[in-house]
Amino acid sequence: MKLKSLNLTFVSTPIGHIGSGRGGGVELTLISLIRGLISLGHKITLIAPEKSFLPSDCSSVEIRHIEGCDQSSWQHQIHKAPIEIPMNGVLPRLWEDALEIGKNSDAILNFGYDWLPIWVSQFIDMRIFHLISMGDVSEIMKTLIQDLSESDPNKFAFHTYRQAADYDLKTKPIVVGNGFELNDYKFQPNGNGPLGWVGRVSPEKGLEDAVAVANSLGEKLFVWGFMEDVDYASKIQASFPEGIIEFRGFLPTDDLQKELGLCRALINTPKWNEAYGNVVVEAMACGVPVVAYNRGGPGELIKPGYNGLLVPPDDVSALITAVSEVKAIKRKDCRTWFENTASKEVFAKRIEDWISQYICTKNLKT
Ligand code: UDP
Repeated sequence: MKLKSLNLTFVSTPIGHIGSGRGGGVELTLISLIRGLISLGHKITLIAPEKSFLPSDCSSVEIRHIEGCDQSSWQHQIHKAPIEIPMNGVLPRLWEDALEIGKNSDAILNFGYDWLPIWVSQFIDMRIFHLISMGDVSEIMKTLIQDLSESDPNKFAFHTYRQAADYDLKTKPIVVGNGFELNDYKFQPNGNGPLGWVGRVSPEKGLEDAVAVANSLGEKLFVWGFMEDVDYASKIQASFPEGIIEFRGFLPTDDLQKELGLCRALINTPKWNEAYGNVVVEAMACGVPVVAYNRGGPGELIKPGYNGLLVPPDDVSALITAVSEVKAIKRKDCRTWFENTASKEVFAKRIEDWISQYICTKNLKT
């Protein structure tokens, strides 16, 4: 069911400003969705930490910049950690603004994986939707999402079924995938390049296993991503011969896809239940097959033998074998999978359906 043009308020992650890389895949997800929903005729107001910026083709979006200290991300805390909000934290300020601005919106969409907005939404008579960006990394978050989705399941959406399976949900989850701007990624047919790895450099991403693969094949591993944990990176560097890792830094999408597209394979080694795995899809968008652990989102996105290969989690020997077999995958098939499954248009349509159906159902009941 399609509604009129919706007036939507998006509330960004409080982990870092858009463009910083600290927000991980949420930053690109949010931008793609804005682009997709604008092209469907919807109006968006974005509430985001100060310094956040959007690409020039999103100029119709009003950005409301909010000052305040970043929130810590849940995946770097122990599972039973309590809720902590720093003094002058940006999170409550984002939501003070959202609850005011949202009065004139058809719906508010929350991109933050945080307790406060989800908890508060049960007491507020507004249409607040939550796009859940992580699996189970915190007991208190998991319990809250499970409890609230029991009474109002249609206010929660997930990126993959594997992610949603981390939550004990009483109804079938709403799974919306993710989306990317097709034209931002150029297909590169040549499959003779180096091995690549992309991600936040942080323990849950398992960089050390990808380096072990490159090392055993006597090759360099090209690494792109936000340097989140410098000690972790130094330890990995110290445990392998010098020169195996080539750190290329955190690049804007256009530069990233130019370099990533030259790779013959992306090695993806998540140690956690990755909710989706943007970098997996971005590699495929350039024609690069992905060799990954069969865990989390990548395990759902990769169709073995078509757009990549899957191996049992944490099995480095199996990764090495798979990398040597990756040439059999047609790079064109990787791009085709991307175009059919993960365009911003497909993603925006799923989000539009999710929100519209909720609004229409509630309107019929009242
Ligand atoms: N990324 C980037 N430049 C880089 C490396 C990574 O913009 O040099 C982005 C990438 O496009 C992706 C995000 O970092 O959107 C990582 O997201 P992913 O879903 O793979 O993991 P997360 O960080 O959310 O756990």
